[in-house]
Amino acid sequence: MANVGDGERDVQDKHDVIEDGYDSAELEEDFEKVADMFQNAKFIVAFHLSELDDVVSDAPEINIVFNRNCYCFDRTRWRNTSKVFRIKSKNNCKLTKGYILKCLERQRFSPNCNHIFVESFDKVADIDNIPTYEVFLGS
Ligand SMILES: [Zn+2]
Repeated sequence: MANVGDGERDVQDKHDVIEDGYDSAELEEDFEKVADMFQNAKFIVAFHLSELDDVVSDAPEINIVFNRNCYCFDRTRWRNTSKVFRIKSKNNCKLTKGYILKCLERQRFSPNCNHIFVESFDKVADIDNIPTYEVFLGS
């Protein structure tokens, strides 16, 4: 079998990358629209526009907990400390990803580290008997 030369790799690089059924141009447009919605946020939303309507919880209020457990805090006094944000439903609306992110923006949530991409909200143990989700951040 012939070795794959650099020339062939270059040809392959010209293909659009398909990710979750989006092509790269659509992805970029989607990403810009989402960024426009959260201009004052100290974090970057890594969800697609359509995902912002995903319901995270039916509860009237939840906690979002931010755990400073990444390497960025290893040698600081904030290592493994956490911060809790209380998110309350308005007019009995379900708590969607978009609504939670807006609340976090208003409450000035700022990871203050290299991990500023909000990638998911993961269910963890209740705090004060209120359903609690950990904000998962990527870089
Ligand atoms: Zn970090």
